[in-house]
Amino acid sequence: MKSKEKVGIMGGTFNPIHNGHLLLAQTAQEQVALDKVLFMPSGNSYMKENVLETQKRVDMVALAIKNYPDFELSMIEAQKSGNTYTVETLKSLTEQTPETQYYFIIGADILFQIEQWRNPQQIFQMAVLVCAVRDDYDLDAIHEKGTRLAASGADIIYLNMPRLDISSTDIRARVKSSQSIRKLVPPEVAHYIEQEHLYYEED
Ligand code: NAP
Repeated sequence: MKSKEKVGIMGGTFNPIHNGHLLLAQTAQEQVALDKVLFMPSGNSYMKENVLETQKRVDMVALAIKNYPDFELSMIEAQKSGNTYTVETLKSLTEQTPETQYYFIIGADILFQIEQWRNPQQIFQMAVLVCAVRDDYDLDAIHEKGTRLAASGADIIYLNMPRLDISSTDIRARVKSSQSIRKLVPPEVAHYIEQEHLYYEED
């Protein structure tokens, strides 16, 4: 019998995408033996304000992953108007491809937020959570949270990965104060930010 295809979902606001996101996806792919990873920029988020327009965030994701043959851009959330919810996204994906096993790739912070999302129980049924445990985290707190989520149905795989001290917020602040972001994002993304004059006038 043919085994199920294993597909990772790397969802994010990606404002902008950076090397930490790429490392997380690569680590998940290697440690979970994923056949491919879908990079899925969010559309409008009800949780975040003043987010750069979707098309520009999508363009940067496309540039960042173009040299990775197993990474694909998924427009499923970016194309949706209104708020997007992970549970709805997983429902459409599993309806379209019932033979695929999905792995939702997340940073450990999300373990502490996911219960506030829409229908977490259904998310747990449709995808395995692949959680990055960066080496400065409080491991006990993560495992305690993970154990409680597992008791309510979550299947969680923990990834070991080094900490890359990069955040989208810091990148936007660096651009605004004319500091280099060369080591933080792929060169194509740095070039795009410069060419499009993104983030220079952030509040
Ligand atoms: P984001 O800020 O762009 O980050 C994307 C992912 O990358 C997060 O899991 C984040 O984990 C991780 N990450 C960031 N910096 C990293 C670094 N230096 N090294 C390794 N990992 C790093 O995305 P987001 O806005 O949190 O959204 C993530 C997903 O959650 C999206 O798919 C979004 O649609 C979904 N979401 C769903 C709902 C809902 O259904 N109600 C609500 C909110 C979000 P950390 O957070 O741990 O940094």
